[in-house]
Amino acid sequence: MSNSESENMIIDIHSHQRDHAANIKKHFNIIIPQEETEDIELDAATVYSAGIHPWYIAETGFKDQLGWLRQLAKDDRVRMIGECGIDKLKGPSLGIQEEVFIRQIRIAEEFRKPVIVHCVRAFNEMISIKKVVRPKVPVIIHGYQKKPELGLQLIEKGFYLSLGADLLRDESQAGQLLKQMDLSKLFLETDDSEADIVSIYRKASEILAMPLHELEELIYENYLGLYIE
Ligand SMILES: [Zn+2]
Repeated sequence: MSNSESENMIIDIHSHQRDHAANIKKHFNIIIPQEETEDIELDAATVYSAGIHPWYIAETGFKDQLGWLRQLAKDDRVRMIGECGIDKLKGPSLGIQEEVFIRQIRIAEEFRKPVIVHCVRAFNEMISIKKVVRPKVPVIIHGYQKKPELGLQLIEKGFYLSLGADLLRDESQAGQLLKQMDLSKLFLETDDSEADIVSIYRKASEILAMPLHELEELIYENYLGLYIE
């Protein structure tokens, strides 16, 4: 067995941090702007997700936003569509949020890219949308930190779950879920926290009592699996 952890590719499935290191595949999230005048620039060294975040849906201009997203979705560096989803605490009405979310799922299907989901107090809606829309692409709920029971239910319904800095807190719900969940549905992320992804992997490997390099490999396999049809 090698102990050279640095040989593994570490997947950070969702991040708002701009820095990157050679052995970390950090998926930097692009939030589709509300106005065309705001530039979106992609650089060659980075991989991305791109989507219309529910907070920033332009209520009267989301058709333009969907058009800009379609353009970005064609780019190979954009690996996932999102974060998109439903937030019951912020953003436009539920009806508009659901419509814009479903239309982003359609774009993800068209370009065969996974969907990365932002979901706040709308897990029932999430489950019923998945049941009705039946996306063939994988759907990952990011930043999951609610009850382990609900997390297990979401996995049973076919969602992947990405856990983040919540794991670093002692006795976190994310940590409890981690011990019980199907690890083939697991991703890890930094999101908007200042934590670094390696410390999140380390904590997860402690919770699981699994060597760090094994966890890195496992999540890398999960990642490759997202793109197998
Ligand atoms: Zn985010």
